[in-house]
Amino acid sequence: MELTRRRSLQIGLACLSALSLAGLASAQAEEVGDRYGADGGEIVVVPIREASFALKVPGLVIYNDPAGGRELFEGQPEPGLILICHEHIDHFDLDTLKKVVGADTRLVVNPATMQMLPPDLRSKATALANGETIKVGPVQIEAIPAYHLVPAYTHYHPRGRDNGYLLTVAGRRIYISGDTDATPELRGLKDIDIAFLAISRWTLTPEQGASAVASFGPAFAYPYHYENVQERDAFAARVQAAGGRTKVVVRDWR
Ligand SMILES: [Zn+2]
Repeated sequence: MELTRRRSLQIGLACLSALSLAGLASAQAEEVGDRYGADGGEIVVVPIREASFALKVPGLVIYNDPAGGRELFEGQPEPGLILICHEHIDHFDLDTLKKVVGADTRLVVNPATMQMLPPDLRSKATALANGETIKVGPVQIEAIPAYHLVPAYTHYHPRGRDNGYLLTVAGRRIYISGDTDATPELRGLKDIDIAFLAISRWTLTPEQGASAVASFGPAFAYPYHYENVQERDAFAARVQAAGGRTKVVVRDWR
């Protein structure tokens, strides 16, 4: 069955007067996010900021790179899994991490971040090196290399240190790029349903991102981690102009 997305219902102003404040709050909490059909339930994508988002899959709530303050995650259920792709502050924010982690939360991080975790968080964490895999609950996780090809940038994200993640769950394959150029590993991905692509002048430029999408053809692509909406929109326009199967999902990642 082809993957379909239905956007969360937007509650219009006309509806507001009909709802009590409490009713409105719960309706919004339930309906925030993009929903995709999956085996045994739904996949829900909730953009938060920069590289941070919540991903709800059947049987597990995942936070990706939670950063920027606990309050950004208010209203989201406690995560069963937190993914961190590398140790930069926009991905690994220890203060926020300490506040969103729950008693039963597992962490999957790149090895360099593992060395920076305090003991209480390290006991919850698994370091995944490029190419390694782990299963957490219903989710199979593979660490996809994330690195720069452009020599001037390689010290920011050197080859072999940072991760992207490929998640296989509920019959779907979800790719989270991390901070990377359009590497052969990225271009060679197969059968991706939802791809999160870091689009910015420091990572995948709009041109590189669109070129990568042309190579691996995900069903849906989220530009995230952009510095400004022009980058996001330029990526979307290029993918659309190329006319492939990929639908770009444009959201505000604050
Ligand atoms: Zn980053």
